[in-house]
Amino acid sequence: MLYDVVIIGGGPAGLTAGLYTSRARLKSLLIEKGLPGGQVTTAEFIENYPGFDEGISGVELSQKMERQAKKFGLEVIQDNVLNISLDGKIKKVTLEYNKGGCEAKAIIIATGAHPRYVGVPGENEFRGKGVSYCAICDGAFFKDEKVAVVGGGDSAVEEAIFLTKFAEIVYIIHRRDRLRAAKIIQERAFSNPKIKITWNSVIKKIDGDNTVKALHIKNVITQEESVLDVQGVFIFVGYNPNTEFLKGLVDINKNNYIITDENMRTSVTGVFAAGDVRAKALKQIATAVGDGAIAAVSAEKYIEENF
Ligand code: NAP
Repeated sequence: MLYDVVIIGGGPAGLTAGLYTSRARLKSLLIEKGLPGGQVTTAEFIENYPGFDEGISGVELSQKMERQAKKFGLEVIQDNVLNISLDGKIKKVTLEYNKGGCEAKAIIIATGAHPRYVGVPGENEFRGKGVSYCAICDGAFFKDEKVAVVGGGDSAVEEAIFLTKFAEIVYIIHRRDRLRAAKIIQERAFSNPKIKITWNSVIKKIDGDNTVKALHIKNVITQEESVLDVQGVFIFVGYNPNTEFLKGLVDINKNNYIITDENMRTSVTGVFAAGDVRAKALKQIATAVGDGAIAAVSAEKYIEENF
């Protein structure tokens, strides 16, 4: 099946690109391997996306974006992109389930990013048994228990605040003496009696039997080691881009993010990138939707000029 535009990834960037390409009357297909919304669906409450003055849940915002794009004709399928061939003018996409795959005049890559691992002993072993990368998914399992959150960015601190709804104590383990998170989020954490911040500390090992029972940490200034009695460890130490399937196809930077120009053009003509998968300074829903709109209009212009 030949499409004008195939969009890979159904987060805010991909859904916005689909909204714009569909309204431009381009035959558009969005391929998403999970649920539309991507990482946003793991956010309990979003209060910095303009237009929702009372805030909105990540799931609801994603559903609204999907409905809005589909209203204008965007086709959405659930599948996993195995490979793309960018050799000719018509690009070919190989899919895991729809064996015929699909073809496109232009491709927009909006595959986002996935949580980064710390790489300590026990992290792998206890994944799903106390180690988590999603507070909204797993927080409720820790009612009246003690949990640790690793990291000091927006994700770590917001999720720590969310976890106080369930847990008795939430330790934030941060490797420096100040948080990276936005000031308003920091203020909320500092004034929350259930949150205890352990500064200048890194995690060394996650221990337990069938489930997590303890977290070994080390103070990087004093070198002192200690053990926290926790039943859950939530890790938010940043993200890695989902670009594995693109290796060698488009230019990426040393951290594997796709390099684009300001019009979201990648190093391959007819291939655009948008959202968190792209090398850029500010990764927010507001910037992802901006990227998606620009990528869509650039793809439209490319198709007009080349087909
Ligand atoms: P991030 O901003 O990259 O922060 C990662 C945190 O983990 C940093 O505090 C970092 O410490 C720490 N860290 C990194 N590697 C580590 C390691 N190996 N061991 C221990 N700690 C480590 O990641 P994020 O918080 O997931 O956010 C990702 C992007 O999404 C950001 O642009 C963020 O602004 C955005 N975001 C926004 C919102 C919002 O606006 N409400 C919510 C969530 C995410 P250092 O500080 O020392 O580097």
